[in-house]
Amino acid sequence: MNYSVSKIGQILHAPTQLGDVIVRGVSFDSRQVKPGDLFVALVAQNDGHDYIEQAFNNGAVAVLADNQHQIPSTIAAVIVPDTLTALQALAQYRRQDINPKVVAITGSNGKTTTKDMAAAVLGTKYKTFKTPENFNNEIGVPLTILTMPEDTEVLVVELGMDRFGQLSVLSDLTMPDIAIITMIGEAHIEFFKTRANIAKAKLEITQGLKADGTLIIPFDEPLLTTAAVSQSVVHFGQKISDIDENEGETSFTFDNTRFAIPLRGRYNIMNALAAISAGILLHIDTKDAAKALKHFDLTKNRTETLTTAHGVTLISDVYNSNPTAVAAVLATLKTIPSVHKYIVLGDMLELGDQAQNLHAGLAKAVTEANVDGVYLVGKLMRMYLYPILQQRFDSTHLHQYETDQLAELITDLQTLGENGDVILLKASHGIHLENVVNALVK
Ligand code: ATP
Ligand code: MG
Repeated sequence: MNYSVSKIGQILHAPTQLGDVIVRGVSFDSRQVKPGDLFVALVAQNDGHDYIEQAFNNGAVAVLADNQHQIPSTIAAVIVPDTLTALQALAQYRRQDINPKVVAITGSNGKTTTKDMAAAVLGTKYKTFKTPENFNNEIGVPLTILTMPEDTEVLVVELGMDRFGQLSVLSDLTMPDIAIITMIGEAHIEFFKTRANIAKAKLEITQGLKADGTLIIPFDEPLLTTAAVSQSVVHFGQKISDIDENEGETSFTFDNTRFAIPLRGRYNIMNALAAISAGILLHIDTKDAAKALKHFDLTKNRTETLTTAHGVTLISDVYNSNPTAVAAVLATLKTIPSVHKYIVLGDMLELGDQAQNLHAGLAKAVTEANVDGVYLVGKLMRMYLYPILQQRFDSTHLHQYETDQLAELITDLQTLGENGDVILLKASHGIHLENVVNALVK
């Protein structure tokens, strides 16, 4: 970036101080400021305005501050009514200034995976930049745009949301040429009440989608009604054959091309097909897409494969959980050859008044997963899933713990274990199964 403070003032229609100062980048964390940055003083749990001095000590040359705070007249500044809105407006300007093709990705699950796959596919032909890590919210998305290099030809951006109205804002500011909805699940159903509402909220991604842009959605999701969508719609998920799931790799044939992706789980075929669809729209040859998807940079996946001191494989997915994700991961577990398999399932939080149905609803998938032991953690699992499973498993194969009994769980899991065995752990982050994982791999 190479904007003067007065140019940023013009973009934001805002008064400035020391307008000649040149800004090279943007950051909002005073500890991560790089020399030449504009420090954006966001007001959240902490008030960024308290860290302006620290930011300047670390090399910031200007501050984006709000007009409720006193800013010393000796530093370069842009003064706005609200710094978050200003950050977004600056990103929107930058998006148009650099003007890459923008591929925006939302969905209940699979956003980050699809983002990485789409970036790999599009990177075969274009200078491609993608959302770092999981920066998919109202702060992360503008930062992604503002850190994209000058010569970016394609920007692949992940858009998250947990309320109505959020995606419209993110869509307006990214102005996608291509918008992908990976799937509709139950994440945040406490707030949305129904999956139909979730689908409706996801469709807000079309708000900023260019008039000549394209929406990419799964072919088998009737809740994604596109009658009111004026842009083109493309469906993905059909015409695949010869699916083959091997250890750590999933292969399939699509468009006369053999794909092998280095990930477990059939749902990753869907993620790949969404990414390939974006590639096709931007003139990527399917053969090149297949090459790109054979090895690609995956953002540190929240599903980690680890090994315990006893040689037992841990599949750890302990940062979020919801019914579709549990079902997907249990289906994956079925395909892994191992001597013994065990599952540790913690509560799925934020499901509101559907918590009972959705926890009870896991009974079938858990039973069909064909495992040697089930370990349930938390109150919701105890109340809603445990009683059903008690009718299907005997007490040597079914165990139940409260969230303050993780030490007991760790002791019990330590007794399991031979080379080649697998323990899968999945729960919402609030259950803190990461403590169990850390204890087991130590
Ligand atoms: P977040 O909302 O936390 O950013 P995300 O949408 O970016 O999540 P990923 O990080 O790509 O999702 O995947 C998280 C987990 O969701 C995976 O480990 C897997 O269990 C599940 N998952 C991924 N893709 C799909 C899919 N297409 N359908 C169902 N489940 C999926
Ligand atoms: Mg993500």
